[in-house]
Amino acid sequence: MRGTGAHNDDERRRTPVRLFNSLNRRLEVFTPMHGNAARVYTCGPTVYNYAHIGNLRAYLFADTLRRTLQWNGYDVTHVINITDVGHLTSDEDAGDDKVELAARSKKSSVYDITEKYTSAFFDDLEALNIRPAAMYPRATQHIQEIIEFIRVLDRRGYTYELKGGLYFDTSKVSNYGQLGALDLESQLAGARVAADPDKRQPWDFSLWRLSPPDGTRLMEWDSPWGKGFPGWHVECSVMSLKYLDGPFDIHTGGIDHRQVHHPNEMAQNQGYLGDSEPGARLWAHSEFLIMKDRKMSKSTGDFWRLSSLVDRGVHPLAYRLFLFQAHYRSQVDFSMEAVVAARVLLERILRRVAALVAEAGEDGAGLAMLSRQAASTTGGSYDYLRSCYEDGLGTAGQQAIREFAEAVSDDLGTPRALAVLSSVLSDQDIPALDALKVIGVFDLVLGLDLLTLDPRDLVIRPADAPLGNDDVEALVAARQQARAARDWQRADEARDRLTEAGVLVQDGTATVPTTWSWQIRD
Ligand code: AMP
Ligand code: ZN
Repeated sequence: MRGTGAHNDDERRRTPVRLFNSLNRRLEVFTPMHGNAARVYTCGPTVYNYAHIGNLRAYLFADTLRRTLQWNGYDVTHVINITDVGHLTSDEDAGDDKVELAARSKKSSVYDITEKYTSAFFDDLEALNIRPAAMYPRATQHIQEIIEFIRVLDRRGYTYELKGGLYFDTSKVSNYGQLGALDLESQLAGARVAADPDKRQPWDFSLWRLSPPDGTRLMEWDSPWGKGFPGWHVECSVMSLKYLDGPFDIHTGGIDHRQVHHPNEMAQNQGYLGDSEPGARLWAHSEFLIMKDRKMSKSTGDFWRLSSLVDRGVHPLAYRLFLFQAHYRSQVDFSMEAVVAARVLLERILRRVAALVAEAGEDGAGLAMLSRQAASTTGGSYDYLRSCYEDGLGTAGQQAIREFAEAVSDDLGTPRALAVLSSVLSDQDIPALDALKVIGVFDLVLGLDLLTLDPRDLVIRPADAPLGNDDVEALVAARQQARAARDWQRADEARDRLTEAGVLVQDGTATVPTTWSWQIRD
């Protein structure tokens, strides 16, 4: 259970975690439904294309939530689904199936498409230090269970059939739309009626869609309502309730899900579990990343991926830090300048950590090892790691941890948490080893590899750089030698070549070595 070794529950300081619940638009203290378990479901990607850097914000938010809960001693089970069928080009139940459309236009099999983008999604999560979920269930692997779930709704009178398939009758549940604070009549009537004018309510949605008669569907299954495929919303009800074992604690997703996908999931859950049971206690949504002058739509295929940043020389963890600078419930404007500034900040933090490690000597190196272990930790050993770090920590360090705890436990206040980190880095009253311990504790939540990343790891060669890193090292060394020999011509030549190649050189001093980095382009 929670405490380990010398640290039991009483000794361990836990901060109540307050979270914003979209259901009643209030901050609530998180209280698990069962004991110490926090069961969290996150709506995952529709795998018809790569995730863009905006999509990744939704998973970073879920990761921060999960880490914060683990950090506070909860046993977290986190499930992220993979949508590989049924998500139409419009959330409002119209258009083509995104995955099928991609398979047809790329002349690939559906399987190849979904495998390719699922695996790319996992790569992105790993690069961003987003801890793996306990499982990633796929819709296509749950079709029979989905059919069973729909049959229950059907038997209980929550459905009706139209020529396109089986629909959920939202008038049969109480408070439909409460989650999105939907002003149904005025806001959505126009938008959602277009899909099927015969629907009883414009906001009713498909549970099962029939295949078109022309035989063009690639993925289809027999069902009591005819050959077809499940609607998008029903997979999440089925898989969340299955893998989290009934009504669960927290459901997360991007803010757009608050309006359509999640109200529909909730209505299905009410039909299945009982009208007063929405399925999840707390519904949490992260705001969008906005790109003013750039496209940010996954469906157009013209968007920024994490690899677009890496190709320009940005380390993925600099992007992680960039996102932490805003609260998850605020929109973030993407700009390369801001991402570059985050990279500079991360480098500054890492240099300061390196200085602290040098100052702390052998003990500092020991902590870095512990941190390597932390990096591979996914589950309950947070308590163990925290107690290792906190062992023998002085009062100033303990106070810093309390401040950090207040920040992250207050609706995941990452900007405030970063401010606490920065004050620890400049606080002369905290001994070096204690500062490192505190940073180790913070990094269990931040996941920025603060004790293990070398500042030089941030030097990422842009994909189109004309020189290799080794060439740059050689030129920088040649310039240094030429300067030492007062051969100004040769030193200038080397500098010109470096500048042309987009390399920035920061000249050192007697005590600080010369460093260089790639200039990051927009
Ligand atoms: P999708 O793969 O399209 O189903 O979207 C995956 C996740 O990304 C969902 O939680 C969306 O709400 C979220 N999302 C979509 N666009 C953005 C954006 N621009 N910024 C942040 N999150 C987004
Ligand atoms: Zn979902």
